Amino acid sequence: MHAVVVGGGVIGLSVAWRALERGLDVTVVDPEPASQASHASAGMLPPANELLYKQQDLLRLYLASRARYPSFVAELEEVSGHSAGFRHDGLLDVAFDDESLAGLDSLRMFLASVGVSVDPLTAEECRREEPRLAPTVRGGLRAPQDGAVNPRDLMTALTAALAARGGRLVRERAVEVLTGAHGVTGVRLDSGTPLAADRVVLAAGCWTHRLTGLPRGVVPEIRPVKGQILRLRSPRPYLRRATRALADGWSVYLVPRHDGELVVGATYEERGYDTAVTVAGLSELLGKVDRVLPGAGDLHLAEAGVGLRPAAPDDLPVLGTTSVPGLILATGHSRIGVQLTPVTADAISELLLTGQLPKVAEPFTPARFAA
Ligand SMILES: Cc1cc2nc3c(=O)[nH]c(=O)nc-3n(C[C@H](O)[C@H](O)[C@H](O)COP(=O)(O)OP(=O)(O)OC[C@H]3O[C@@H](n4cnc5c(N)ncnc54)[C@H](O)[C@@H]3O)c2cc1C
Repeated sequence: MHAVVVGGGVIGLSVAWRALERGLDVTVVDPEPASQASHASAGMLPPANELLYKQQDLLRLYLASRARYPSFVAELEEVSGHSAGFRHDGLLDVAFDDESLAGLDSLRMFLASVGVSVDPLTAEECRREEPRLAPTVRGGLRAPQDGAVNPRDLMTALTAALAARGGRLVRERAVEVLTGAHGVTGVRLDSGTPLAADRVVLAAGCWTHRLTGLPRGVVPEIRPVKGQILRLRSPRPYLRRATRALADGWSVYLVPRHDGELVVGATYEERGYDTAVTVAGLSELLGKVDRVLPGAGDLHLAEAGVGLRPAAPDDLPVLGTTSVPGLILATGHSRIGVQLTPVTADAISELLLTGQLPKVAEPFTPARFAA
């Protein structure tokens, strides 16, 4: 069976690699792989967050992905020969006001109820863990087994694994899904060339619904949610571990890399396909850094970037078959796509191979939009 995956972000590349591992013949189509939301992303991998409190199905999917991360990365690094920049040596959540501190306590109880234990920390302990935190820190949590991945390294490793397993990468845009009497037959490329396939997986982020050739409503609209994000640089790692700070109703995450990069993210803006880096975006992020890490003024600004998170109408992932036989969607991961990469890759490759979506992914099929 030949599968074409449209889109080479973390989702498309990981689906393709996992499908190749299971013996499928796979081609990824993308004019500029690893360039969009996944390139911008910070790659935070927290144990869970408040978004999941009331969403049992999403929580199950999330925890399944978290459990898979270490083995997914180990296998990927072995096949590709590249580091995926994965760290699970601990993650901190720190609060700078009473309300945020109470929020962290609720988060701790919620995590305990789903079997994830985190350690509560006093203000003093937070500062011992991260001496550069402002003295105004009120307390926090330490998740000893969580952390972050570098999405750029992850995609380098995925691209190498794809090649190592005989996958093809076509650097062109897919413009049309081709169908026949029995379902999909392939895609048409920008150049006009058809590319035949028995299965087509659309993983083109917030452009997924823009391919032509399909009846209206088969692919739900995947809207872009803009995120501005900074990459700062210091000679040595500025923090010991990935940290999320909360204060006055806002949050900011700070992800240190071994090479001295410190990622600061991110804004969350509904502005269509606009990708401008704005004064407002920069000052929002820098203001938060100043509050949390008052000594960070000496760091260099290495990059100010933007990514468009792919969000479905209900802000949940869209995974599975559609009403067009052979057409599969893997998108809509919004702000947690890097976290959901292993579970998505395994679920969609299982679907390609067996025709069955694993139970944990069933609540996310596109069928929920049919009504
Ligand atoms: C600023 C920011 C910070 C984030 N931080 C985190 C985080 O800390 N943790 C986390 O888990 N998630 C985070 N996210 C979310 C995460 O990055 C996304 O959910 C994830 O990257 C989505 O991956 P994707 O492959 O679906 O989309 P994308 O990475 O956008 O990839 C889509 C790909 O499709 C290609 N494409 C588009 N149209 C076509 C076409 N017609 N033909 C062929 N190819 C096409 C594009 O070139 C692109 O390569 C963040 C996002 C942003 C923007």
